[in-house]
Amino acid sequence: MVGRVLLVEDDASIGEVLASSLRSHAYDVVWERTGGAGLARAATGPVDLVLLDLGLPDLDGVEVCRQLRATQPGCVLVMLTARSAEMDVVVGLEAGADDYLVKPVRLAELHARLRAQLRRGGMGTTGPAVRALGDLVVDVPRHRVTVAGGELHLRPKEFDLLARLAAQPEVAHSREQLMADVWDENWFGSTKTLDVHVAALRRKLQEVTPPGRRVPQIVTVRGHGYRLELAVPDDR
Ligand code: CA
Repeated sequence: MVGRVLLVEDDASIGEVLASSLRSHAYDVVWERTGGAGLARAATGPVDLVLLDLGLPDLDGVEVCRQLRATQPGCVLVMLTARSAEMDVVVGLEAGADDYLVKPVRLAELHARLRAQLRRGGMGTTGPAVRALGDLVVDVPRHRVTVAGGELHLRPKEFDLLARLAAQPEVAHSREQLMADVWDENWFGSTKTLDVHVAALRRKLQEVTPPGRRVPQIVTVRGHGYRLELAVPDDR
């Protein structure tokens, strides 16, 4: 068993293909066909991964996403969407999803993504396991981030992204490299997922930083990507 998966999908043929493919890769799969049943199932115990169709018959998929994130804070949440509308994807990511797949889902892509999503700590570039940058401490073995001693609560991919940036502070990382390191070794295509996670990290870091404390900033490197930059003390 490589992971417990909750599949929420109302389409019988798509659900059948996904569930049997996941089972053949040794995932322990529970398949629910409505948002309500998915939420009820999620409330009964932790899962490693949720595959969530956004177009559900009973509830709005984005709302289901938000509630699943609240019930299952540690799981990896991947949206399935038949809609090409970028807004759905962005709204879903903001509601707590870690990634998305557009239907029709190619099984090879699904499995590549899931392997990458469930991989923990193996982020290619190894820095010190515990990294202190000003008042920010990223503790990879404990999967914990603190700012001036206060805990910063991050979603799995937000943590992975911050840990990746913190492993090499002051270094500009390309968008493609960050996508490959944090999401999928074979990533190609849109990097919208990255931008939404960077925005969430910036907001959370800002929210928990007490006045006068030094916390690194995620700086946009125009036309390239991002770097984590140590804050300059106010009195300099
Ligand atoms: Ca559907």
